[in-house]
Amino acid sequence: MGLPKFSYIKPKNLKEASALLIEYGDTARVMAGGTDLLIRLRHCAITPQYVIGLSGLKELESIHYSNESGLVIGALARLNQVAEHADVRERFPALAHAASITATVQIRNMGTVVGNICNAAPSADTATPLLAYDAEVVVVHPGGERTIPIDSFFRGPGLTALEAGELVKELRITVPPRSAGSDYQKLSARSKVDIAAVGVSALVVPDDQGRLARVRIAMGAVAPVPLRAHRAEKILENQAPSDELVRESARAAADECSPISDVRADGAYRRRMVEVLAERALKNSIQMAEENKAGCEA
Ligand SMILES: Cc1cc2nc3c(=O)[nH]c(=O)nc-3n(C[C@H](O)[C@H](O)[C@H](O)COP(=O)(O)OP(=O)(O)OC[C@H]3O[C@@H](n4cnc5c(N)ncnc54)[C@H](O)[C@@H]3O)c2cc1C
Repeated sequence: MGLPKFSYIKPKNLKEASALLIEYGDTARVMAGGTDLLIRLRHCAITPQYVIGLSGLKELESIHYSNESGLVIGALARLNQVAEHADVRERFPALAHAASITATVQIRNMGTVVGNICNAAPSADTATPLLAYDAEVVVVHPGGERTIPIDSFFRGPGLTALEAGELVKELRITVPPRSAGSDYQKLSARSKVDIAAVGVSALVVPDDQGRLARVRIAMGAVAPVPLRAHRAEKILENQAPSDELVRESARAAADECSPISDVRADGAYRRRMVEVLAERALKNSIQMAEENKAGCEA
C-alpha cells in the first residue's frame, strides 16, 4: 500500500512551522519520527495535503540535564536517546525504562517521546512516567510560547490540548529529590514489542521521618486518556508506607480507571491488572526510595 500524495515542507524553525500550520489549517500535519503518522497516512486514516517535517530542526534533538534546571527533552529526542541517557536512567528511571520497552529498536531509533505523547494514545508508554514526574509541555505558537502541565495535555484518544498553530517544542521536568523512587510496569498480550494493555507508573518521595511526602500513580490504557489516580495517591501521602496501605492504594487506583474491552484485553481484567501493577510499581518505588535514602546517608 503506497502513500497518498502530499507536499512535504521543511520549515527552518518552529516559528515558521507554526505559521505554516496556521496557513494550512486542517490540511497540514506535523511529522517528527513519522512512526505513527506514516502508518496513518498509508492506511488513509488521514489525508493531509501538507506534511510539515521537523527533521531538519537539529536544535530539537537534544536532551539537557542539570540538577538546577532539571531535564529538558527536545521535540526530536528519540525514544532510544531518552532510554540510554545516563542522567535520565539515574534520576528518572521509570521514564528511561518505559522508553526502553516501547516498540522495537528500529522504532525507538526513529520515534520521539514528544511524538509518543502528541499521538495521544491512551496506551502511550512514556505518558504515565511523564505524569508521575509532573512533566510540563512547552508549546510554541505564532505569538510565542506557553507551558501546559502534562496532567491537562491529554484530552481524549488522539486529542491533546494543542490549539491551532501550536507545536510542542520540548518537555521539562524538575528533578525529584535523590531519595525518590519510581517505577514503570507494563502488561501486554505478548511479552515484547506490543502496545500496553495496561501501564502503571509510580513515584514516591519520602520525608525525613520516613513518611511519603509525595506520591504519584499514573495509569495508561485504562481510560480515554493516560491519567493520575488522585484518590489512590492520597491514601499513601503523608503516611509511613506499609504493605496494607500500598494494597489499599492499589485497589483505589483500580476503582479510578474506566477500562474498555478490546482486542488487547477485557475491561474487567484490565481493572484487576491495574491493582496488581500499581501494587508492584509502588512497592518497587518504595524499595528504591529506601535504597536511595540509605545511599544519601552513607
Ligand atoms: C510497530 C510499532 C510498534 C509500536 N509500539 C509502541 C509501543 O509499544 N508503545 C507505544 O507507546 N507506542 C508504540 N508505537 C507508536 C509510536 O512508535 C510512538 O508513538 C512514537 O513515539 C511516535 O513518535 P514519532 O516521532 O514517530 O511521531 P510521529 O509519527 O512523527 O507523530 C505522531 C503524532 O504526533 C504529532 N507530533 C509529533 N511531533 C509533534 C510536535 N513537536 N508538536 C505537535 N505535534 C507533534 C504528529 O502530528 C502525529 O499526530 C509503535 C509504533 C509502531 C509502528
